[in-house]
Amino acid sequence: MSDPCFSSSKLMNVDQAISFLLDNAKPTTKTEKIRIEHALGRTLAESLVSSINVPPWDNSAMDGYAVRVADLHLEGSTSLPISQRIPAGTIGLPLQPGTAARIFTGAPVPEHADTVIMQEHCQQTGETVLINKPAPAGNNIRRAGDDIAIGDTVLTTGTKMRPQEMGLAASVGAAEISVYRKLRVAIFSTGDELALPGEAAKAGQIYNSNRYTLTGLLQALGMDIIDLGTIADDLAVTRKTLESAALQADIVMTTGGVSVGEEDYVKAAIEQLGAVEMWRIAMKPGKPLAYGHVNHIPFIGLPGNPVSVFVTFCLFARPYLLKTQGRTDIMPARLKISAAFDWNKSGPRREFLRARLMPTVNGEPARVDVFRKQGSGVLTSTSWANGLVELPEHHTITKGEDVTFIPFNELLG
Ligand code: AMP
Ligand code: MG
Repeated sequence: MSDPCFSSSKLMNVDQAISFLLDNAKPTTKTEKIRIEHALGRTLAESLVSSINVPPWDNSAMDGYAVRVADLHLEGSTSLPISQRIPAGTIGLPLQPGTAARIFTGAPVPEHADTVIMQEHCQQTGETVLINKPAPAGNNIRRAGDDIAIGDTVLTTGTKMRPQEMGLAASVGAAEISVYRKLRVAIFSTGDELALPGEAAKAGQIYNSNRYTLTGLLQALGMDIIDLGTIADDLAVTRKTLESAALQADIVMTTGGVSVGEEDYVKAAIEQLGAVEMWRIAMKPGKPLAYGHVNHIPFIGLPGNPVSVFVTFCLFARPYLLKTQGRTDIMPARLKISAAFDWNKSGPRREFLRARLMPTVNGEPARVDVFRKQGSGVLTSTSWANGLVELPEHHTITKGEDVTFIPFNELLG
């Protein structure tokens, strides 16, 4: 906050703004223990180290017969008496030389057996099996510790728990894990013109869409929301709401009211309560962005235009929030994809075009197209799109050229 480079209303480039925010994000230290079935989307607060081998013992990868390679004829078939039956979940006896054990997928391979012949290569008659195809040692045997060995770190601190990680934790026997407490994010929208969906919008009013976009974005990140609704463009009300938000939340976020018009009170209110940096970011959509503190609680002020809210959240608020939540995978993957469009409206601001990765047919290379209307109020563009094309400053695009594409699934979680 004290960096003199970030003075009031400075025009800043996108990367500078992201670095500044990340440098200022302090990972939470509050943790709790939860059961793994409740872990979806949570952030691991402690590495998970396995106290067991997975699989725990050598086991059969097939339904078949466990034998000793030494008992098989090198050519042709071998007939062996069946000395035992080992279904999954039971431990057999050491294999007697010159016999076969009937075995099933997942069952422990008995001591002395060194290969498993799949049942398709065998004929069982009564208590005897004819093995039609010999196999080398180790065939169809999954070795103890092949996936995870005792002492392996299977999940590291800062990992987001996806279904795969829930299963992985279970596979080493962990019923509970330690996660960071969900961040509590207080939100409110500013604007005298805002009506709520479900109400009749009066003359001059528009529906408050930002509140719901922001709610969805925060829910997608697995955070708790303290929704303080819509407030009027009024300095005293803005101040009061910010103070109340800071008492309840880990982070406060607002939409609108951060431009420099005389009806924009967010900056003035925060200046009275703490400190604020106002930036004009050299990007389209979404120029103004505010970052500061209200009574020592961090604050992010997003612009008012609905598309700007969506894009600036994904680019700036998301990495800040994720770092604060304790996550280690913060920045989205970017792909290089062939453009299905021309773009000649380049300028000094970096553009984030609402774009769609097109379904490919017959193994054609992937292509990305952009929505026709790229205005910062055109919310349909965000719904049509499945990602953003990031267009560098002063850069035109000709169809067929590679462009940078950030899929929404890299941004909405
Ligand atoms: P502002 O930054 O407050 O000047 O808002 C910029 C534009 O976004 C104006 O056209 C506002 O009407 C519009 N806007 C602001 N807040 C919202 C909202 N919550 N939902 C929809 N549009 C909004
Ligand atoms: Mg406004």
